[in-house]
Parts: sequence; structure tokens; C-alpha cells
Amino acid sequence: MAEFKEPTFRENVDLMFNRAVALMDIAPGLEEKIRVVNSTYTVRFGVRLRDRIHTFTGYRAVHSEHLEPVKGGIRYATAVNQDEVEALAALMTYKCALVEAPFGGSKGGLCIDPRDWNEHELELITRRFAYELIKRDLIDPAQNVPAPDMGTGEREMAWIADQYARMNTTDINSRACVTGKPLNNGGIAGRVEATGRGVQFALREFFRHPEDVAAAGLDGTLEGKRVIVQGLGNVGYHAAKFLHEEDGARITGIIERDGALFDEKGLDVEAVREWIVRHGGVAGFPDAAHTADGAEVLETECDILIPAALEGVINLGNADRIKAPLIIEAANGPVTAGADDILRRKGVVIIPDMYANAGGVTVSYFEWVKNLSHIRFGRLQRRQEEARHKLVVDELERLDRYLGDAWSLRPEFKQKYLRGADELELVRSGLDDTMRIAYQDIREIWHGREDVADLRTAAYICAISRVVASYRAKGI
Ligand code: NAD
Repeated sequence: MAEFKEPTFRENVDLMFNRAVALMDIAPGLEEKIRVVNSTYTVRFGVRLRDRIHTFTGYRAVHSEHLEPVKGGIRYATAVNQDEVEALAALMTYKCALVEAPFGGSKGGLCIDPRDWNEHELELITRRFAYELIKRDLIDPAQNVPAPDMGTGEREMAWIADQYARMNTTDINSRACVTGKPLNNGGIAGRVEATGRGVQFALREFFRHPEDVAAAGLDGTLEGKRVIVQGLGNVGYHAAKFLHEEDGARITGIIERDGALFDEKGLDVEAVREWIVRHGGVAGFPDAAHTADGAEVLETECDILIPAALEGVINLGNADRIKAPLIIEAANGPVTAGADDILRRKGVVIIPDMYANAGGVTVSYFEWVKNLSHIRFGRLQRRQEEARHKLVVDELERLDRYLGDAWSLRPEFKQKYLRGADELELVRSGLDDTMRIAYQDIREIWHGREDVADLRTAAYICAISRVVASYRAKGI
């Protein structure tokens, strides 16, 4: 097979940034200031485990502090390196700007395979890593707020929050030092599934615009669309589950570390997930064809391809063979800049990462606000809202009695209308609104400018112009 020389992840992000900036009118020098990563801290620390000291390497990159705190996940993976966290930190800056979450961009990572360690060992490692970052203000409610990413989840975020609280015993806002915490530990309803939910909301919004759907050579709604998902982790699982259960999409392919499952009639996402949890992979799943070469399924015909695992999986080596007319980047950076060029020329529509997976940071923003306000969303208004709705229902019931058989109040209306919104409903509504508005902002640029041919360039232009405005307001 031919060897293709690809730029690094950070270079890929810069190439995409440069393509957008070339179409913008930005003050001389400001473009470079925005593009570069402000700082990257590397830490090597030791933890005594299994009767010896193990040394771990971790990073926290801060891309832009035009707004603070800066925000971005912490990833646990063996492939974590400086280039990767810097690329991801830059994407966080643009992502936050795009969905109007008032944060700069940051990202962290630890070179570790979490499957190599038991829970107690992982806690010791996480606490030590957190300690190293906290003492340098690289975790702080006002300066730098991490969240989960690949290989981390609620459990790790709870350890980090507790570590911060132990080191800052009088900080009343300590819980806001990290998001993605468990609900009983300062978390918010709906955060675990937020990124996958955001992918669903992004696709729903895309399908509300028939001309955009037609640009991808598709028509109709999400109902019956064939979807292939790579990575059935937090993001991929929730996106696939919701698209199947709520929008009627058919999940025809699931690609995991150990190969892929394929079934033209549609896979049972829940059953596959359970199988992965029990067996550590998809191999052996009884109700579908298994192929050991997952990459093959990436190139299989479908309507929507959702890469939700790693960066760089669609690259110069396979872009030509990708058959999906619509790709939604649930993962960060799954399509390299070179592959993006090829796919664009082929007419493939790509819903870019900085928008597609912004649901996570959006709900993290809500969690941070909740932590700072020290009250659950909806706690004050819910019953008052119900009481006001009851006034209307009482009047309608009076009318019902008066009109007799001619009209009657449907019991399900009464039940639905009376109920005040709880935190989960408010979070979903805020996420839906955010995803809709951000898409509309991007498509306005996509369709409104002759020189912008794709959603990614439009998203970069939208995000960069907001960062520029922020710098201008500061007078830098
Ligand atoms: P995760 O660790 O929960 O899941 C990743 C999944 O990908 C796992 O099931 C893993 O087995 C699978 N995988 C790993 N290597 C693979 C390979 N070579 N081929 C196929 N599958 C493979 O991680 P996640 O949180 O779902 O994150 C996935 C992507 O989404 C990352 O790019 C991350 O940066 C991005 N993202 C996550 C969030 C979030 O809230 N968790 C938010 C925004 C973006």
C-alpha cells in the first residue's frame, strides 16, 4: 500500500484555520496570535503502585485566554502527546466561540491505557495528576476547567473535584473546577449523554434544511437513513442510540477497536453496547456479520458516517474510497486536512467537529453555571410554573363543562401542560437551542458567501470572527 505523508493533528487544524483566515479581513498579526497555542505544560510524576514507582507523563495545553476560564477535556490514552493536546486545545477555542460558551480553549491528556490499571490505582494516578495541575492553577474554577474526554468519565471528574476541594478548603466555588461530575457530586442532569445528544440535535437541524440535505445528495428525514458509527464509547453510543430510538435511523455498521459489525437491516445498539461492556469488544456478537478489518466498514456504503473514536481515521490513504455522502465528525479531528480536500471535491458534506461535538462543552457550561450559582436549574420556578399552568387548565376545564360533547380537554394535554420543567428538560432545551442557533450561524456563511464552499470553513470563519471581536474589545 502507498505511504502518504500527512501533517500532524495540530498542523491539520492550522491548515484548516489558515484556509478560513485567508477569506477574512483580520488586523495584521492578530491571525498568528489567535492560531498559536499560548502555553503547554508537561508534567512527569511518579506514583507508587504494585511495589514500584511508575512514572507518568501528562499535559495541559492552553490555546487561548481571550476568555477565562479556559475549558477542555482530559484524555487518557497511550497515544496522547503534546501535538495532540495542542490541536485539541485549539479546537476547543473555536468550538466555544461557535456555541457562545464564554471560555477560552484548553485540553489535557495523560499517556496511559486506563485498562491497564484497577480502579484504586486509577484514582491514585488521577489524584496525583490533578494535584500537579491544581498547584499550577491549571485546574481552577476561574482559570481552567477540565471535563471528560476519551478514556475518562464521571468517576475521574469526581476524583479531580475532590482533590481540588482538599487543596482549596475555603473555596466556596470549588465544585466549578471541573465539569462532567456525577449528579450526586455537583454534576448536572444530561451531561453524560450531552455530546451524543448534541450530534443528534445537529443532524436534526441539518435535516430541517432541505437544500443542505440535497447538497449531500440525500433527501427526506433521518427516518430509515443508514448510519455507520466508529467508536461505541460515550459519544458514539449515545448518538447511535438516540438516532435509532428517536429518529428511526438504521445503525447498519459499528466499528470498534477489534473490528466491525455490519447488518443492512440495522443493529441493536443497546445489545452491542452490552456485549462490548461484557467482552471488551465487538468480536463474537451473535446477531451480525463481524469483520476484523474495521477500516473496511468505514468505506462501506451508507447515508451518514459518524466517526466517534479517534482523530485522523479518514485520511489521504482512504478518503477516495469513502462512500458516505454525509459525514458528521462526532470525534475531534477524524478527517485530516488532505482528506477534507478530497472529500469536498467529491461533493461529500462534512458537519465539522467544532460544531458537531459541541454538545459536551455546552452542557459543561450549564454545569459550571449551576455550580457557581449553587442551585439546581428549575428548583425555584418549577412549582410556580405548574401553578400558573393550572390556572389555564382550570379555565379550560370550565369551558369543557360548558361545551359538553362539542369539545373536551384531552387528559394527556392536561398532564403534559401541567408539568413544570425539571433540570433535564431545561438542559435539553438549552442544548437544542444552542445546536440550532450555531448551525444557522454557520449555514448563513456557507450559503451567503460565494467564496465559502463548505461547512467547516464557514464554522471557522464564524468562530474566528468572534475571537477577533473579543480581542478587539479588549484592545489587544
Ligand atoms: P470513549 O473513550 O468513551 O470512547 C471511545 C470509543 O472508541 C471506545 O469505545 C473505544 O473502544 C473506541 N475506539 C478506540 N480506538 C478505536 C479504533 N481504532 N477504532 C474504532 N474504535 C475505537 O471516548 P469519547 O468520550 O466517546 O470520545 C470520542 C471522541 O469524541 C474523541 O475524539 C473525543 O475527543 C470526542 N469528544 C468527546 C466528548 C465527551 O464529552 N466525551 C466531547 C467532545 C468531543
